[in-house]
Amino acid sequence: MQKYERLEKIGEGTYGTVFKAKNAHTQEIVALKRVRLDEDDEGVPSSALRETCLLKELKQRNIVNLIEVLYSERKLTLVFEFCDMDLKKYFETLSTPIDQVTVQTLFYQLLRGVAFCHSKNVLHRDLKPQNILINKNGELKLADFGLARAFGIPVRCYSAEVVTLWYRPPDVLFGAKLYTTSIDVWSAACIFAELSTSGKPLFPGSDVDDQLQRIFKLLGTASESTWEGVSKLPEFKQFQEYPISMTWEQVVPNLNNAGTDLLQLMMVCDPSKRISAEVAYHHSYFDSLPNYIHLWYTD
Ligand code: AMP
Repeated sequence: MQKYERLEKIGEGTYGTVFKAKNAHTQEIVALKRVRLDEDDEGVPSSALRETCLLKELKQRNIVNLIEVLYSERKLTLVFEFCDMDLKKYFETLSTPIDQVTVQTLFYQLLRGVAFCHSKNVLHRDLKPQNILINKNGELKLADFGLARAFGIPVRCYSAEVVTLWYRPPDVLFGAKLYTTSIDVWSAACIFAELSTSGKPLFPGSDVDDQLQRIFKLLGTASESTWEGVSKLPEFKQFQEYPISMTWEQVVPNLNNAGTDLLQLMMVCDPSKRISAEVAYHHSYFDSLPNYIHLWYTD
């Protein structure tokens, strides 16, 4: 008898199809992620197996729990705890704006999850609303942490959709290698802005140039005077100086001063000047965080 009884398909992710399933022995509902591997590859690369097995040790309440890794007939299936929906779907189902306490509690949890993984030297590299999961009780959990290292970030998703650039920092858009924690901090900042506007993406670029232009129109065009070393990045090109036409108050009108300050500390073009996720979750923006959230982290 199969251990997991497959129920309906719940999504197409970067790495493969996700199914809802039930553990036939315990009745536990799980999410099965069947990782698609290159057809001409001989089975699962040992590096991918090693990396995914390490991820089983990455346990924190804001990280989707990887229950087990199944490897059979040259197929790799990751078994995760099941979550009700992802942030993208949550935005789509909203009928009224998200209240600012919810923005604060969700973003706090996002930062706690990111900071935890960074403390274990695990990067995400592709944070976006689709891989941020939430439960009915308001808990947030990050999916796909560490998978970029195990499998690489493909150019296209399983469903042939092009991987989104909207959450990529300017250093990565200029061809920097994807190996520092500051990448996730930028993506988290984009998601913070999007939470505060109830799902309006901050920089919805259509290609790399458009993405960089949108960023520079808000933050100013990157140059050696503000970001030392930028011109040495593999795909650097000089963009014109755009007149700054929007203030932060116009971009994120619902954020209070502390929230706007936090956003600006994270959203800096020079990756070496971005604050860390750990410093971010200690920011005064979270001074008024509801007490029940603090209690989640006391055990
Ligand atoms: P991902 O590969 O993580 O981007 O997954 C693709 C889609 O499957 C997501 O956007 C979610 O809607 C869904 N999904 C992924 N993991 C889970 C999970 N643990 N529980 C419920 N749905 C999930």
